[in-house]
Amino acid sequence: MQGGYPKLRETRKLKRRKMFYQQRRMQGKTARKVIGLCLIAAILAIGTVYLATAQENKSYIALRSAVDSSFIKASVLFPFINLSNTLSVELLVEETAEPELTVPFRTASPNESGEAMASDPDATPRIYLTFDDGPSASSTPKILEILDKYSIRATFFVLGSQAESRPEMVKAAADAGHVIANHGYSHDYASVYASPESFMQDAHKCEDILAGILGRPPERILRFIGGTTVSQLEKNPDIRNSIQKTLVDEGWRYFDWNADMYDSVPEPGPEPGVLGSQLNAGIDEKISYGIKDIVVLAHDTNVKVWTPTDLPMIIEHCLSKGYSFEVLTGKSPECVFR
Ligand SMILES: [Zn+2]
Repeated sequence: MQGGYPKLRETRKLKRRKMFYQQRRMQGKTARKVIGLCLIAAILAIGTVYLATAQENKSYIALRSAVDSSFIKASVLFPFINLSNTLSVELLVEETAEPELTVPFRTASPNESGEAMASDPDATPRIYLTFDDGPSASSTPKILEILDKYSIRATFFVLGSQAESRPEMVKAAADAGHVIANHGYSHDYASVYASPESFMQDAHKCEDILAGILGRPPERILRFIGGTTVSQLEKNPDIRNSIQKTLVDEGWRYFDWNADMYDSVPEPGPEPGVLGSQLNAGIDEKISYGIKDIVVLAHDTNVKVWTPTDLPMIIEHCLSKGYSFEVLTGKSPECVFR
């Protein structure tokens, strides 16, 4: 049959050639897809590295403020979408030096009756200054002096371990009328969030120390270390649910924040006034969206030198706008991420 059926051979040849080109086309397509995916991955990687290594504080703060602000806009424009439950992004996962770097995406949360923190459009905006992680040798006296100068009360979420070594500062803050609230004893994420029992043990240990210093049981006001959306609890929502249930059962109130002084910025710090003006703009923006209860997160530690530096300009700005300053109590509106 050799040499026979030339037409059939021709057809086979053509088919093979067609298949060859088809395969090449397919390979080309696959290659283009791979290149495309690599490009996307590269862009994402560069973005991540940029975020993680953003050492220039102004861009770092501006970036975080922008994220914060776009969330507020989104939640105001689309109130039916509960972004808070779907978005919980940590721009910086750096829990070594200063772990309070979780970026909150929820600004105001509904209270038990389903209302936002303050829904009365005519209500005077209320600012709740909160200082975490103290008392500290260098910052606490400065913060207390500034608050005293303006006759303003604030809420101190103190650490049991810090209170133990500086009881006189806790006493001084309480005597000046500030609220001494609970931030746990150790600030050690791994052990505190290991189980609901370890969380409560840490909180009770802090409470016992405060009771000893104050000569009375402190009000049961608490802030989770890293906030309620801290990564340890995002990974273990069952532990969070159990902690929150126990806290409610024991009569505690816990508060996150909806404005951040961003004083956890990496070293070296920004110019004086940068954090303060950012915060002032953030507060005004939130108020312009109808949020009337602003819980400000700031820190009271020796390394947060910008907190006392910029505090007067924050207070003066808020006073000039007619906002009032309040402390957190058992009756304050809810401010919880989750
Ligand atoms: Zn803290």
